[in-house]
Amino acid sequence: MRCDEILDKVYGYGGEEEIPFMLQLRIRFHLFFCPRCAQEIERFELARESLKNDFFYPSPGIKEAVMARITAELEAEEAGEGDPVRDNPGGISTKVWSFTGILIFISLASSFLSLDFAEVAAAGGISFLLPIGITIGVVITCYGALFIGSHLKEFSERFGLH
Ligand SMILES: [Zn+2]
Repeated sequence: MRCDEILDKVYGYGGEEEIPFMLQLRIRFHLFFCPRCAQEIERFELARESLKNDFFYPSPGIKEAVMARITAELEAEEAGEGDPVRDNPGGISTKVWSFTGILIFISLASSFLSLDFAEVAAAGGISFLLPIGITIGVVITCYGALFIGSHLKEFSERFGLH
């Protein structure tokens, strides 16, 4: 194959698809004898890598985004701009809470399901299950307390407690 054919093939696959083995062999064979193409392809690979890394990384983490929203809402609340939950029905605050709750229950459920209770009980005795129960109780209690605490206004309005 000629140089431009080699480069066409490499650019055509773009590094995304796997190049067929026989074609790879022919390209490698060519590059072995052709430093110009080897350098060209090396540059192409470098450019592709840096495109990947510099333009799409670091992606904004969901945690940072959520924390930024919570911080912004807390600041708005402190600045006396009212209750973000009431002013922004169905806003991020309620969503974040439901999401956190679902995550907690999923992780608890999956850790529960992954435990072989008979085995755990046989190995550690029934007392081993006690700390697990306490942990789950504490997590659920904390979540519930935090949720109610942060939605106190909403609750009291909804149930006419004020
Ligand atoms: Zn060449």
